[in-house]
Amino acid sequence: MVQKGKIGVTTDNIFPIIKKFLYSDQEIFLREIVSNAVDATQKIKTLSDRGEFKGELGELSVRVSLDKKKKTLTISDRGIGMTAEEVDKYINQIALSSANEFLDKYKDDANAIIGHFGLGFYSSFMVSKKVEIISKSYKDEPAVKWSCDGTPEFTMQETEKDDRGTDIVLHIDDEYKEFLVKDRIQSLLTKYCKFLPVPITFGKKQEWKDGKQVDTEEDNVINDTNPLWRQKPAGLKDEDYIKFYRDLYPMSFNEEPMFWIHLNVDYPFNLTGILYFPRIKSNLDLQRNKIQLYSNQVYVTDSVEGIVPEFLTLLHGVIDSPDIPLNVSRSYLQGDNNVKKISSHITKKVSDKLEELFKKDRTQFQEKWDSLKLFIEYGMLSEEKFYDRAAKFSLLKNTENEYYTFDEYKTLISGSQTDKNGDIINLYCSDKQEQYTHIAAAKEKGYDVLLMDGQLDVHWMGLLEQKLEKTRFVRVDSDIIEHIIQKEDIKEAELSDDQKESLTQTVKAQLPAIEKTEFSVEFKALGENAKPVQIVQNEYSRRMKEMAAMQQQMAFYGEMPDTYQVVLNTQHPGIKNLIEASKDKDKEQLVKETTDDGKLKQMVDLALLSGGMLKGEALSDFVKRSFDMIK
Ligand code: ADP
Repeated sequence: MVQKGKIGVTTDNIFPIIKKFLYSDQEIFLREIVSNAVDATQKIKTLSDRGEFKGELGELSVRVSLDKKKKTLTISDRGIGMTAEEVDKYINQIALSSANEFLDKYKDDANAIIGHFGLGFYSSFMVSKKVEIISKSYKDEPAVKWSCDGTPEFTMQETEKDDRGTDIVLHIDDEYKEFLVKDRIQSLLTKYCKFLPVPITFGKKQEWKDGKQVDTEEDNVINDTNPLWRQKPAGLKDEDYIKFYRDLYPMSFNEEPMFWIHLNVDYPFNLTGILYFPRIKSNLDLQRNKIQLYSNQVYVTDSVEGIVPEFLTLLHGVIDSPDIPLNVSRSYLQGDNNVKKISSHITKKVSDKLEELFKKDRTQFQEKWDSLKLFIEYGMLSEEKFYDRAAKFSLLKNTENEYYTFDEYKTLISGSQTDKNGDIINLYCSDKQEQYTHIAAAKEKGYDVLLMDGQLDVHWMGLLEQKLEKTRFVRVDSDIIEHIIQKEDIKEAELSDDQKESLTQTVKAQLPAIEKTEFSVEFKALGENAKPVQIVQNEYSRRMKEMAAMQQQMAFYGEMPDTYQVVLNTQHPGIKNLIEASKDKDKEQLVKETTDDGKLKQMVDLALLSGGMLKGEALSDFVKRSFDMIK
């Protein structure tokens, strides 16, 4: 007898909803149907273990097959199956309360909709014009065939089926022919089913024979049913983890992770997984191999934002937790208590691991530091708790490639690099070549210079200035060294306003025009052996510009010209002469005579040259003039 009926939904018809709203993620239908097959298979295993099912379990693989002629995709299992009554109960009755409102909100998120309504099975209608269920329960009851063509009407009748289990036959819509293409299905199965706990087969393995691919006898098994993250860490070797990394990211050929963390928590939430630390070389590398999120070995997504703290998204690997509510919006996730706990647990594990590495093998940790640095800085900048932990093992590297913890470094420099106000001045450079002159000047004074050439260093130093007591970071070329670490008050040169004005004009007349660059002139009594002219850039304005380059909302600073200070040493004999001359000459005369004389120009050019600022025509003129001088 053929039973006819209407699928019991409280909204008029769920099919337009499925077709209309779920257009973005159609492909997940396969995950849903295969997951149901896996669940049914695991249930029969459980029943058998408990002695409630006494028959033969037999072969339990889930089989996926394509029939191009019939235009069908079939998913078959040998699980518990369904009786007619069960099909009626589980498939025909769907409760869709306040559906429209919900659908409106999540219309771009098929995952949320499917999860919310328990519509896993119905997602098959996203891509099928007709779906059939042929099922035989493990109970001694006749097999049943259910069929529905995308209207609320279905038919259900008794049928013949020898084997226990369920076949779900999808008659693929003409619009979705892609799901009849073998490679497409193979890649979807690889994406979603790679680590399911029951073997999934799709056709036969192939081999090359007489110049073409032919089927072998062997089943093409898609998945690894016992993935590494589900195994006990104690029995695993480094090679196992590296091999698993390759399995996860087959496209990153020679890259090996630096180290990894195996997560394994039962209580108060369930969480397993492996997080790998990649070698981070630059920003470009970052997002490529994303962390994959699984729920009981079913792949869910590779966008884990909101589930793990943002800086941890720089890691690679897998997280598997049935306790993460998957079928909800991202904003809901962030407020979820379990998610919060999971997130802070992962953060703690990560800092524990780093600390352990640091303590166990400092040399090795130092070797890895350059690759780890960006990640750790990012973490410290974005997570207060991580800062507190990471402050113990974070390293500062100097221009000699020596590494110090914050405490060690303070001990090293506080004797010599404390200024008259009691501030400890951390000197740094961002480019050893370009800032060589300034580094050398600092070293001559017995100071240490850090190398801060990382992408987040400027932000990080800003953070450290807030966190570490009486500590400042100043780039070596941001002022004359005596000024950066000021031991005593530096005497301002005694010059009248008129003299200053006329000397400023004179100096400016020697400076080349550089686009978007401005100069101011200062006069300092630095002793007769110090350089006559130095060019520096104020730490604050330079930092603002550097930060502007990374942050949209600070773009305003980026537009501002670079301002440099030209510092004249009023005790240098050459500058002394100039000052003498300024006493009894008017401005125009001084400018003209100084320009004709050429010495000041030479001094200014040398200062520009040592800061890497003498370029193009100005550089060429300088070289020519210098040769003329030694003729
Ligand atoms: P969910 O899996 O979220 O419960 P579905 O719509 O995917 O929702 O499935 C509804 C129910 O139909 C399942 O809970 C299960 O009882 C039954 N079912 C679906 N597929 C199978 C199958 N292959 N074998 C046995 N039962 C199934």
